[in-house]
Amino acid sequence: MMQRAESADKTPVLDSPVEVKRTICSHCSVGCGVYAEVQEGIWTKQEPAFDHPINRGAHCAKGASLRQHGHSTRRLKYPMKLVAGEWERMSWEDAVNEIGDKLLELREEHSPDSVYWLGSAKFSNEQAYLMRKLASLWGTNNTDHQARICHSTTVAGVANTWGYGAMTNSLNDMHNSKAILFIGSNPSEAHPVAMQHILIAKERNNCDIIVADPRFTRTAAKANKYVRLRPGSDVAYIWGLLWHIFENGWEDNEYINQRVYGMDEVRAEVANFPPSVVEEVTGVPEAEMFDVAKRLSDNRPGCVVWCMGGTQHTTGNNNTRAYCILELALGNIGVAGGGANILRGHDNVQGATDLGLGCDSLPGYYGLAEGAWQHWAQVWDLDYEWLKGRYDDTEYADGKPMYSPGITVSRWVDGVLEEDENISQRTALKAMFYWGHAVNSQTRGVEMQKSDAEARDDGHR
Ligand code: SF4
Repeated sequence: MMQRAESADKTPVLDSPVEVKRTICSHCSVGCGVYAEVQEGIWTKQEPAFDHPINRGAHCAKGASLRQHGHSTRRLKYPMKLVAGEWERMSWEDAVNEIGDKLLELREEHSPDSVYWLGSAKFSNEQAYLMRKLASLWGTNNTDHQARICHSTTVAGVANTWGYGAMTNSLNDMHNSKAILFIGSNPSEAHPVAMQHILIAKERNNCDIIVADPRFTRTAAKANKYVRLRPGSDVAYIWGLLWHIFENGWEDNEYINQRVYGMDEVRAEVANFPPSVVEEVTGVPEAEMFDVAKRLSDNRPGCVVWCMGGTQHTTGNNNTRAYCILELALGNIGVAGGGANILRGHDNVQGATDLGLGCDSLPGYYGLAEGAWQHWAQVWDLDYEWLKGRYDDTEYADGKPMYSPGITVSRWVDGVLEEDENISQRTALKAMFYWGHAVNSQTRGVEMQKSDAEARDDGHR
């Protein structure tokens, strides 16, 4: 394993042998390859990987600064403790003992659910798996990571459509696309190295690039067609496209008959979205809707690409479901150059979710039913009854804590502030354990506390 400099004071011997370690940029989900040059255990230089299929020798500014993060003078190098308003250095042994003892005390006094184990979409698969295992052996489902607030809507929408919540094809496969619809995604800025593959599709395959977005983004500047839609009107927009597709018989009937269940119900629902209704909801006139529907129909295979602009809505699940249905109607799933391409935020949103670092499932989407626990107890070589004994046995309105979802990361503030009698666990949270996740994922704590208290005073809680 590559070691960070033991001491920032130690000057690396620049003519000592160079070891090249291959790694992956830890900033975003594009996953660019990195060559890290290491001398005497110190990361001295960095190059983008030229033979990597995704970045092919490119980096964006974030990736190019990767090494500096490892060496930043602002980086925490050892455990620190706040004592009388001042940060004091402490030894690892004292830190582990002090934190461990305190958490065990809380567990003893208030039940295992009083501690929240917050992991990260920056974890490797292995780390995500172990964090879930740690929470399980501690005896709580109060564990989660960033995907809850960025892409869990995608998992629900995509998995409910074709069984598994993930991007269907690679950036390299998008070179084969004839049309790409971006909705809620702006890769020119958010996933810049991914954008080179889009431009390859455009230049080499004459791919029609369509951007639907309330803002004219830098990606829109590279598009063949830009459509401005009202924020939050994605479902009506997609239904409006489908209205024209069905009206003109542009759907892929052979594909639908062979592979799709339920398209007749979609057709009946889409009939409620004629151009006048769609224009009222989305702000997009009929001629614009027709034009995009025709482009997508004339240019197959094609992809739909989305990101946080599609997911972070109260209707996020519906949005992602609608994007998938559009692709199924056009026969675009399961073919080269066709697909649902979900550009995630962090570098391992998918893996951390698959490996069960969430409050509602054990690794591999096993859920929390008794059979799932028995399976994982066996995998972990643990006695199931012992594992069961780690959890609080109280029966709450939504079941026993072991078999019901824990608190999501999006609601941890409520988990802390809520009165004990209003929460489906013995007490509110007494400790948050953060690892690879910022505390400020929920900002404006004071205001949240105030609105929580006001809601309670008004009898809403
Ligand atoms: S595009 Fe993403 S993975 Fe690639 S260098 Fe930039 S931040 Fe890193």
